[in-house]
Amino acid sequence: MSITVTLNRRHLLAGAASLPITTSLAAHAAAPLLGSSEQIFSRFKMGDFEITTLLVAQSTRKEPQGTFGMNVSPEEFAKASAENFIPYDQTETYFTPTLVNTGKELILFDTGLGGETLGVLRALRAAGYSEDQVDIVVLTHMHPDHIGGLMVEGSATFPNARYITGTTEYEFWLAKGPEHRIGGMVANLVKPLAEKTTFIDPNYSVASGITALDTSGHTPGHMGYMLESGGRQVFIAADMANHHVWSLAYPDWEVRFDTDKVAAAATRRRVLGMLATDKIPMIGYHLPFPALGYVSTRGEGFHYTPASYQFSG
Ligand SMILES: [Zn+2]
Repeated sequence: MSITVTLNRRHLLAGAASLPITTSLAAHAAAPLLGSSEQIFSRFKMGDFEITTLLVAQSTRKEPQGTFGMNVSPEEFAKASAENFIPYDQTETYFTPTLVNTGKELILFDTGLGGETLGVLRALRAAGYSEDQVDIVVLTHMHPDHIGGLMVEGSATFPNARYITGTTEYEFWLAKGPEHRIGGMVANLVKPLAEKTTFIDPNYSVASGITALDTSGHTPGHMGYMLESGGRQVFIAADMANHHVWSLAYPDWEVRFDTDKVAAAATRRRVLGMLATDKIPMIGYHLPFPALGYVSTRGEGFHYTPASYQFSG
């Protein structure tokens, strides 16, 4: 009796054991394609500061030589691109405001593009903040992709914020008049907030450890911001250098969006040289996300190395 029972159990067990295998094989359909992964915020700690870069938009653009390297031949542009493993006929443009939590204040540098669904709110919320927590909004300059997120349907996007921006920048664009595309945007988006805005010159201290630096050229009042805490520094470069290859390796290449092309090139050489000498990483508004990297000198120009684990631990 006991032998029969044992055999039966063995058969049952064997059958039971084989069943799930058969079932799982039958049910094991190909995993669905999920599309590219998307990371829209990146936070690291530096001293007392928490610094978060926010990816608020990304776009693919054709014919990049219409924007970068306007003063060099197509052959030279294609060769420089190939040497750096990027296509010459297409580019990715990123839009990356930076959020700094000093422990006392939450400070947002630039606001991204406008539109019905504001990328800046999406990324800010994904990073764990709400718009009413932002204490200060700093505008590095007033191109539309930096001021577009200031207002939502005529109301301030960041209801409790005050604002800081350059006097020169504000006056330059306002003087263009409301008919001018950017002048009109500044009149609509920045001017209504003027009472809550502190208009500054370079070297102004936004908060302890945050200092405005003159990086004019891209626009007349363009400023970058040096962050310093715990004996370390990071430079918010905004649009001083807009491509990790074409602007870094070839700082003299003309860029369509630089208001003063000669001054912009001189600023790139001066500031990138300082960052390379002092080994200070930069956050570039239009650089590949998460937009943080190091600058070194290479040949006649500079080389960009994306940050890895320098701020972990
Ligand atoms: Zn920009």
